[in-house]
Amino acid sequence: MLQRLKNARQVTALSGMKNVGNLFRQAFGRGWILVGDAYHQKDSYDAQGIYDALLGAKILAAQLIKWKTGGGSWDEAMQLYSSEVHNALHPMFRSTLDRLKREMFASPSPKMVNGLLRWVLTNKTYRQRFGLLATRSLSPKSWASPV
Ligand SMILES: Cc1cc2nc3c(=O)[nH]c(=O)nc-3n(C[C@H](O)[C@H](O)[C@H](O)COP(=O)(O)OP(=O)(O)OC[C@H]3O[C@@H](n4cnc5c(N)ncnc54)[C@H](O)[C@@H]3O)c2cc1C
Repeated sequence: MLQRLKNARQVTALSGMKNVGNLFRQAFGRGWILVGDAYHQKDSYDAQGIYDALLGAKILAAQLIKWKTGGGSWDEAMQLYSSEVHNALHPMFRSTLDRLKREMFASPSPKMVNGLLRWVLTNKTYRQRFGLLATRSLSPKSWASPV
């Protein structure tokens, strides 16, 4: 990266996004289903959109196969999809929102930033556990001890 950028020059202003809509939509209705970003949208701070879209599609596929092969009604299959996909995605969603509040939207004192936050963000165990959370190898419900 350093090699490729060493003669680079910034030509426009950098922009970021704040206040992204964070939401779950109704997952299905008569003859329609939502999956991926259409169903669940959130700030990209934790970069979970692709994982969530694939996981949602996998859960939906299982229910569609069951329904198509005679395993119950459309409503039953979609109720199961709706609750299963919500249970699978909601804990990570809560974790992202908590991190956003704490790290992007709070205004901690300089003492807090230079002390506790710096210590946490440079802490090896924290970084390792955060890496496991981001790859969904640790449950969002228990990746960090409560403050
Ligand atoms: C700037 C940015 C950075 C991101 N970075 C990351 C990241 O680092 N890691 C990560 O995991 N996620 C990231 N995401 C989120 C991730 O891209 C999305 O969560 C993911 O692509 C959602 O997949 P999807 O299939 O639900 O929707 P999409 O990938 O948006 O696919 C929907 C498709 O449907 C097509 N479409 C729409 N309307 C119609 C129509 N009427 N008829 C036919 N086709 C239609 C669209 O053209 C599109 O191809 C990022 C998103 C953005 C915007």
